[in-house]
Amino acid sequence: MAEEHAGVVREKKALTHDIVNLRIQLREPDHMVFRAGQIIRLSSQPYGDKPSVTRTYSIGSLPSDAGFIELNIKRAPDGVCTTWVFDHLQEGQDVRFQGPFGKFMLSASSAPAIMIAGGSGLGPIRAFAMEMREKGMVKTTWCFFGAQTHRDLYYRDDFSRFEKELPDFKFVPALSNEPAESNWQGERGLVTDVVKRSIQDLNGWEAYLCGPPGMIEACLKILQEKGIRDMDVYYDKFA
Ligand SMILES: Cc1cc2nc3c(=O)[nH]c(=O)nc-3n(C[C@H](O)[C@H](O)[C@H](O)COP(=O)(O)OP(=O)(O)OC[C@H]3O[C@@H](n4cnc5c(N)ncnc54)[C@H](O)[C@@H]3O)c2cc1C
Repeated sequence: MAEEHAGVVREKKALTHDIVNLRIQLREPDHMVFRAGQIIRLSSQPYGDKPSVTRTYSIGSLPSDAGFIELNIKRAPDGVCTTWVFDHLQEGQDVRFQGPFGKFMLSASSAPAIMIAGGSGLGPIRAFAMEMREKGMVKTTWCFFGAQTHRDLYYRDDFSRFEKELPDFKFVPALSNEPAESNWQGERGLVTDVVKRSIQDLNGWEAYLCGPPGMIEACLKILQEKGIRDMDVYYDKFA
């Protein structure tokens, strides 16, 4: 059940030029019952002429990391809450939030899964991979990550490890705006186009999508064309 929480920011770490990871220790209460991928509603504190606002963020850590949650937050240009997070919030500072909410979480099914993330949406997808590893799940998983250039990539070491440690896990980062002359050896183009040419038939698969609304809408169309059932598609639109 959703409840009010007070916590303290134990770590604030830059993952890219515009995404930070917040590691929050739960204080009151000192625990929370949740699943990776669920959301919380974080309240910013007033600064300048900006009032406190409440914004939704996805939990990118596991319940077994007891007493903590992690959030990945991407800066929105002139956004009220993200400007507070990036420019005002400091390690050691108290935060308030409500949660958990939402049904975006890993199913117990062993059906193969396609996971597609954009921007800060990679946080909960990484948590799903950690959950699969923790539970010893055997599940064919293709995980696509859409970014613009190589400076938007993060968690590459984590995903390399998942490829080694999970029985059938593939990570495919795709860059849509990487300069032609760069030495990037991976996929180029919109992540939707990369998905389109990488997997032909998704009949019997599950899908987990997490990221900006435009990416989700485009992905839903492609997944449908490839034969996935609506009931097997789970997504969180970062609207
Ligand atoms: C289910 C869900 C899960 C989410 N999970 C995450 C997550 O894990 N990580 C994450 O980073 N985000 C996530 N989001 C998005 C997040 O909730 C916020 O929307 C985001 O951080 C922006 O908040 P903000 O207060 O900084 O921006 P806002 O102040 O809300 O502004 C958003 C953008 O709109 C522009 N804008 C605002 N007002 C106007 C106006 N009048 N005219 C023109 N432009 C305007 C701003 O400049 C800014 O770029 C999630 C959203 C949902 C719905």
